[in-house]
Amino acid sequence: MPTSTVFTTAVCDGYEDLLKESQRAWTIWKGLCQRISGSCLQSRIADDELRNLQARYARSYSALENHAHTCATCRRVVQLNNRTNARIEEAGLSLGLRMTA
Ligand SMILES: [Zn+2]
Repeated sequence: MPTSTVFTTAVCDGYEDLLKESQRAWTIWKGLCQRISGSCLQSRIADDELRNLQARYARSYSALENHAHTCATCRRVVQLNNRTNARIEEAGLSLGLRMTA
């Protein structure tokens, strides 16, 4: 009989990597936005840098969304979540509870 249990995450490694990259790009972009808006750093170079960071964030978020549609593991997780949410909503309706989004 095993003495320990190994737990694994349901999220795939590809999704997790893309999510981290997207969060990192957003944090860097927002950080520069805040620094520029709170100072006199309005310049062509700052504008170009902001546009580059915004584009990096947009690309990484797009890759994350595309992955969720093309990865079999992630699609399965979404299907399970949708079924679970439908059952929760159905149970709430049968109890006379109103679900809000
Ligand atoms: Zn995936």
